[in-house]
Amino acid sequence: MSKIYDTVIIGAGPAGLSAGLYAGRARLSTLIIEKGREGGQIVNTAEIANYPGSIEEETGPSLIDRMKHQAKEFGAETVYDTVQEVELEGDVKTIKCLGNTYQAKTVILANGATPTLIGCPGEKEFTGRGVSYCATCDGAFFEDFEVYVVGGGDSAVEEAIYLTKFARKVTIIHRRNELRASKSIQEHAMANPKVAFLWDSVVKELKGEELLDTMIVENVKTGEQTEIKADPEDGMFGVFVFIGFKPSTGLYQGKVEMDNNYIVTDENMRTNIPGVFAAGDMRVKTLRQVVTAASDGAIAATQAEKYLAEQA
Ligand code: NAP
Repeated sequence: MSKIYDTVIIGAGPAGLSAGLYAGRARLSTLIIEKGREGGQIVNTAEIANYPGSIEEETGPSLIDRMKHQAKEFGAETVYDTVQEVELEGDVKTIKCLGNTYQAKTVILANGATPTLIGCPGEKEFTGRGVSYCATCDGAFFEDFEVYVVGGGDSAVEEAIYLTKFARKVTIIHRRNELRASKSIQEHAMANPKVAFLWDSVVKELKGEELLDTMIVENVKTGEQTEIKADPEDGMFGVFVFIGFKPSTGLYQGKVEMDNNYIVTDENMRTNIPGVFAAGDMRVKTLRQVVTAASDGAIAATQAEKYLAEQA
C-alpha cells in the first residue's frame, strides 16, 4: 500500500475510461479499479448509433475496447478488484478492496448503474436459463425461438429490434399502452414484422423445469392473468428485461452528498468532498448516455488535475 496515486478511478465504463484517458494524458499516476469486465452497461448494447463519430456496425463492446486501449496507451493502470469500503475525507483517500487497499490524492467515482429487476418469483432462478438483461450477450442463444422483452423505453425497444436477428418472434411486454421510447425507435419497431406488443401488461411469475417455459402475465387494467407457455417444439423461450437501472452508489451512502441515491456534483464533477469527483450515470443529471458519461469523465479528470496543482 506504499504508493499514493494522483487519482484512483472506481469503475471502467465510458465515464471511468474517459477519466483514465484524460488523467493519463495529464501525466497523473492513475489507477482504474474495475470489479468485473470493463464497459459497464454499454457492453449490453448491440448497436451504438448515437455516439458522435461511432463507426458503422459499432457495438458496445467494440467501442469499449477502443476506449480501454486508449486509456492504457496514455498510462492508466487497471486492476480487477471489488471495492469494499472507501475513506474519502482528508488529503489521502483510501479505497479498500477485496484483494488490496489503494490510496490516492483524488478519487473519481464512476461505477455507474445496474439493471432494475422485475422482482417477480422465478426471475432470479431463471437468470441465465431464459431470463437475460443483455441482448448482445445472450441473443444468439435464442436463434429461431420466441422471446419476450419487458419494458417500453429506448433500451427495450432497441434491444427488441436487435433480437429479431435471432428470434423468430419478439413480443414487447409494456405496462402501459404507449411506449416511452423515442419516436424514431418506435417507428422502426412497429415496421418490423417480427415485433409484436402486449400492452398494459406486467410479468407476475416466471416458471419452468430446467429452462424457462412458462410465464404469468397480468393485464394491469382488467387484472386478468394469462399463462404463456413455450411452443412444445421449442420447450423454452427467452425473457429480456430492460426496465431501467439504479445507481450503484451504496458504497458512498453517508460519505458524499446524494439526492435520491444519485451523487450530487457541480458542473465540474466535484462532490461536496474536496478531491472527490463523480462521473457518469451515478450522478444527478438529465441525460444518461455514453457521450455524457465520457464528457463527465473528461471533466472530472481535468478537475482532479487542477485540484492537485492547487494542493501542491
Ligand atoms: P427508461 O427510459 O427509464 O425506460 C424504462 C422502461 O421500463 C419504461 O418504459 C418503464 O415504463 C418500464 N418500467 C420501469 N419499471 C418497470 C417495472 N417495474 N415493470 C415494468 N416496466 C417497468 O430506461 P432505458 O430504456 O433503459 O433508458 C435509460 C436511458 O438511456 C434513457 O434516458 C434513454 O433515453 C437512454 N437510452 C437511449 C438510447 C438511444 O438513444 N439510442 C438507447 C438506450 C437507452 P413506463 O414507460 O410506464 O415508465
